[in-house]
Amino acid sequence: MRSHLLNDRTAEHYRRSVTDGVERVAARLAATGQPFTGTTVDALAPRVDGIDLDRPLHDTAAALDELEEVYLRDAVYFHHPRYLAHLNCPVVVPAVLAEAVLSAVNSSLDTWDQSTGGTLIERRLVDWTAARIGLGPAADGVFTSGGTQSNLQALLLAREEAKTDAPEKLRILVSEAGHFSVRKAAKLLGLGPGAVIPVPVERDRRMQAVALARELERCRRDGHVPMAVVATAGTTDFGSIDPLPEIAELCDRYGVWLHADAAYGCGLLVSPTRRGLLAGIERADSVTVDYHKSFFQPVSCSALLVRDAATLRHATYHADYLNPRRAVAERIPNQVDKSLQTTRRFDALKLWMTLRVMGADAIGGLFDEVCGLAREGWRLLAGDPRFEVVAEPALSTLVFRHVPAAVTDPAVIDRANLYAREALFASGDAVVAGTTVGGRHHLKFTLLNPETTTADLSAVLDLIAGHAEQYLGESLDRAC
Ligand SMILES: *Cc1c(COP(=O)(O)O)cnc(C)c1O
Repeated sequence: MRSHLLNDRTAEHYRRSVTDGVERVAARLAATGQPFTGTTVDALAPRVDGIDLDRPLHDTAAALDELEEVYLRDAVYFHHPRYLAHLNCPVVVPAVLAEAVLSAVNSSLDTWDQSTGGTLIERRLVDWTAARIGLGPAADGVFTSGGTQSNLQALLLAREEAKTDAPEKLRILVSEAGHFSVRKAAKLLGLGPGAVIPVPVERDRRMQAVALARELERCRRDGHVPMAVVATAGTTDFGSIDPLPEIAELCDRYGVWLHADAAYGCGLLVSPTRRGLLAGIERADSVTVDYHKSFFQPVSCSALLVRDAATLRHATYHADYLNPRRAVAERIPNQVDKSLQTTRRFDALKLWMTLRVMGADAIGGLFDEVCGLAREGWRLLAGDPRFEVVAEPALSTLVFRHVPAAVTDPAVIDRANLYAREALFASGDAVVAGTTVGGRHHLKFTLLNPETTTADLSAVLDLIAGHAEQYLGESLDRAC
């Protein structure tokens, strides 16, 4: 069994195994005619449960055959142009190559003595991203597992910087359209259920700056301590970007930490034409970026950036066996001093290879394409009497719903839209998301694939209308 340990004597086994796996995935990619097979939990679960994990196959090819059955065949494929559901991007090849390299070498980015060049590469990418944001000379940051962890860490730093001895008075202000990970972070930080104050949004789903001013004033009056304002640069449903300059102004005035959640909107940092949409982000104290959303990177690839490197000390603890204080004096770069994680993947390598092979403009160009596609999709929807579209796209999402010609009961319209989404998923022809707006069910396209065309969008809209009409026809039959 030692033959499965990756080392100098097993290089050939490694080469053959990985190549075999790559061949299978490549064949699967070439053969996928739709984003999904339409399988169900009931069909798939018995196949997974039926495998006896205590009886190994002792054969890589056989295990890959089995994997076809339990995973590869029925996976949801984000590279397909009719996958339009969540913030999952198709990935670029240099990043996938990097993924294979980083897991084989298996550096751990907690300390220099487990990673050497890996730590230096991550630091260069942190500096590069901070410079793109414009955070200034004292900036720093660290790669994280995702936006959820970045937001948690940002709020931890903000809480420590708030320096209060009355934690029950701490408040976080975030728009109603902000991400739920802010609430989760507040809970993990031990804040009470009322600690997160939702700030109303405009019709375009951007935070109302006047409402934020009002809430900050109210906090002051009530003796509360606003520890952070979270401005979202690209809300998950609408892609809306909160008014960053006005929010930064208010944060300055009230002395509050400004965290910018650019998990989705970070792609604009490299956009050749839309960078201006992020104007004001350079005034944030901390910024969340998810390269695995709009930089076409495989999951996970994310970072938290901060304006002032010194604030990262709130995540620093020393262990004699790992990162002793002595190492700081010797100026040995240990990323664990800045991270919530200890053992940590070298995810930065994916972004590194992407920038070295393709360059930032190429990535930004791809993101621009999907933002342009969303505009086209909006025109399609706005001109189609079968649909109602909620807002013009700020980035690359479209929220809409089917409005059947003969139906006025909103509950029936809700059910028709819910049904259409489920029926579409079950058919595997396309995958779209759902959300609610004002309590009513809507559908959502999240466009992150430059290969998707307006013809794809039209075709999917026809499919949705078809399923919804079929549902209404059938429920009418039932009623008669
Ligand atoms: C996706 C998202 C997050 C969470 O990021 P994960 O990488 O999924 O943990 C946070 N904020 C916003 C605005 C997001 O879109």
